[in-house]
Amino acid sequence: MLDKLGQNISTALNKIKSATLVDKKLIKEVIKDIQKALIQSDVNVKLVLKMSKDIEKKAIEENPPKGLTKKEHIIQIVYNELVQLIGNEPQKLDLDPSKKSIILLVGIQGSGKTTSSAKLARLIQKRGLKPALIAADVYRPAAYKQLQQLAEKINVPLYGDETRTKTPIEIAKDGLNKLKKADVFIIDTAGRHKEESGLLTEMKELKDELNPKEIVLVIDGTLGQQAKNQAKAFKDAVEDIGSILVTKLDGSAKGGGALSAVAEINAPIKFIGTGEGVDDLETFEPKKFISRLLG
Ligand code: GDP
Repeated sequence: MLDKLGQNISTALNKIKSATLVDKKLIKEVIKDIQKALIQSDVNVKLVLKMSKDIEKKAIEENPPKGLTKKEHIIQIVYNELVQLIGNEPQKLDLDPSKKSIILLVGIQGSGKTTSSAKLARLIQKRGLKPALIAADVYRPAAYKQLQQLAEKINVPLYGDETRTKTPIEIAKDGLNKLKKADVFIIDTAGRHKEESGLLTEMKELKDELNPKEIVLVIDGTLGQQAKNQAKAFKDAVEDIGSILVTKLDGSAKGGGALSAVAEINAPIKFIGTGEGVDDLETFEPKKFISRLLG
């Protein structure tokens, strides 16, 4: 039941769809159901309360616009409020072509970080900039080879230390020095350490040393509640997460867990991964995401 949130909200909205009479009592009941669904999904309680107040006020006071029935109008109000909760408009990865930038990818092992690093490099390449990849995961033995294969596929320069004798900071700094022709450096980091606190400390050190333009948190879209906990742990460690990249949304998962990660750390989702290939990365569109969540 990973996408319980979407299901619960849809069930609540079905009460409106199937009602013969939509009155204040029913509206309040449905809003309570939606509130419960969001709070169970760990969306910030204050946000949920504000959102439900807004829905209630609009649903009771506003008249449906021309062409919409009262039922359709209420469903649209709920939909719009959910879209607003995750940011309304798609947000871009802002890069200044006249400056060199560093993008640091962080996330738990298996989230899709290495694959996403290559996907991001591909996207930046398509924008006409010169990306470079740096393999700074020194704990997973196969990480370097995996990124090397991906880098070759998209013809992007790569720096790493296959012998895994350097520290991640040394690798990153050497990579910045060696790959001078690049404009955007994408750094793939470790997702597992001997202990979790070690991983988070390493991410903080990388951030302090490299001063990245953007830290991208990679989250597995098939996760439920764990998404929120992961987001919080990384946010506590590196402080400024600039965006979230939700992977694996090509399957049946709808990414309900990612919504609670967004609400938890207040960073926008900018990209979604929709497959294992290097081109399977899309700009995140809040409206599409909510339609899918409720669909
Ligand atoms: P890392 O440990 O975080 O670096 O994760 P990897 O990049 O190695 O990805 C873990 C697994 O998830 C691999 O088998 C990837 O092919 C797969 N993967 C990554 N992103 C996606 C995605 O968007 N969709 C699908 N279906 N699989 C993905």
